[in-house]
Amino acid sequence: MNLKIFAIEGNALQATKRWQEMIQEDVQLSRFSGLRLANRLPSKSKEEAESYISTYSSRGGPAIGVEYYLTKPRTARQESKLEKLRQKIMEAQENYEQRKKVIEDKFFYNTKSHYVSCKKCSSRLSKQYLRTFVKGMTCPVCGKSIMTDNNLKSLKRFEDKVSAAGGKYHQGEQDIAKKQITRNTAWVIGGKV
Ligand SMILES: [Zn+2]
Repeated sequence: MNLKIFAIEGNALQATKRWQEMIQEDVQLSRFSGLRLANRLPSKSKEEAESYISTYSSRGGPAIGVEYYLTKPRTARQESKLEKLRQKIMEAQENYEQRKKVIEDKFFYNTKSHYVSCKKCSSRLSKQYLRTFVKGMTCPVCGKSIMTDNNLKSLKRFEDKVSAAGGKYHQGEQDIAKKQITRNTAWVIGGKV
């Protein structure tokens, strides 16, 4: 099943007229049984309009036209704001990895005991085995972490900072997307052939 999508600027009448011209030019388009313009509010983006077409079109059916708001590209200032938010995620991620490495290094290299017992399933585990094959502080028997509660709590704080930075980026992206929407619309027409 092949989805064909065409974007046409202008109002419904202009889009319909252009579509009729396109059918004359491209024999493949005449396989659609007519054109149906979706009677709905304009989609917020071209992607959203295409996704509507993909959902509601069927092979042998009419081509579907969906109106959508044209967006303007991000300004340099918006790009740089997003870039800063992206950096924050990477920094938080690095801090998390560093903290994890400190805990693991201490566990693997800074203690005398060669074995450790999993607190969850009581398996006796060789540190050598964990280091070589598991490559981390996870019990291979029950899959739970063998870190102390304090270590886990500390790591959780770093993990939360990564999530928070991710949330801020997502929010920033949404705020900017709202500002990118213009009052002008275009039509995207497509369907399965
Ligand atoms: Zn275990």
